Amino acid sequence: MVYGGTYGYGWIYYGLGRIPYYVTPDFKQRTAAEGNGSHTPYEIFMDAIAYIKNEVACVDFFPFEGATTPYYVLVDYGASCQAEIGCRMKSGQKLDLGPYCTFKRGTVLHEIMHVLGFYHEHTRQDRDSEVTVHLENVETSPNDRRSNFDVVSTDFVDHSPVYDCGSVMHYTHNAYSTDKFSLDTITGKTTACRNVMGQRVDFSPIDKATLAAKYGPPCPA
Ligand SMILES: [Zn+2]
Repeated sequence: MVYGGTYGYGWIYYGLGRIPYYVTPDFKQRTAAEGNGSHTPYEIFMDAIAYIKNEVACVDFFPFEGATTPYYVLVDYGASCQAEIGCRMKSGQKLDLGPYCTFKRGTVLHEIMHVLGFYHEHTRQDRDSEVTVHLENVETSPNDRRSNFDVVSTDFVDHSPVYDCGSVMHYTHNAYSTDKFSLDTITGKTTACRNVMGQRVDFSPIDKATLAAKYGPPCPA
């Protein structure tokens, strides 16, 4: 199912790019040691949403205001780093930033980009032109992770016009590998691709352009 017409899974419910969020007390209380060593997960999350709003796109996260906003994103210190994709039209849809999720800013930006409606770059239909997926090296137990490498229908997806190995939404070379030291699950076909694949430093230039194409600037009135 696609929400939001031409904006796919994007947040248009409160106006394009306006996203109510609620931060759990537990998330707020987490220490700098549970963040990146000098800042708490809460501080890092707040910094990330300010960065997107001011420098990347017209995306405004605003505090959940109870009954007036039935749908909102629930930011919590979960067991892992994960987010539900786009506006799912439900209350308390999850954005979990647990252990090590706020260590690198790019990991936070990755999860927020899911919230904004974006899938993983390596699930694009044109991925085989840039990378090789080695499904035989992907974990099948205790959890079968092979579906994480499925190609996603274009009906569901907002993507940049070109495949972006440097996207913050691209998996790294050994994601969900049965042997992270010797078996790759994704290999870039060029050195240029391999050099940037899986980076979690910042949005790539193409990520920024893709976000801007979807949410502006120019910002909606
Ligand atoms: Zn992801």
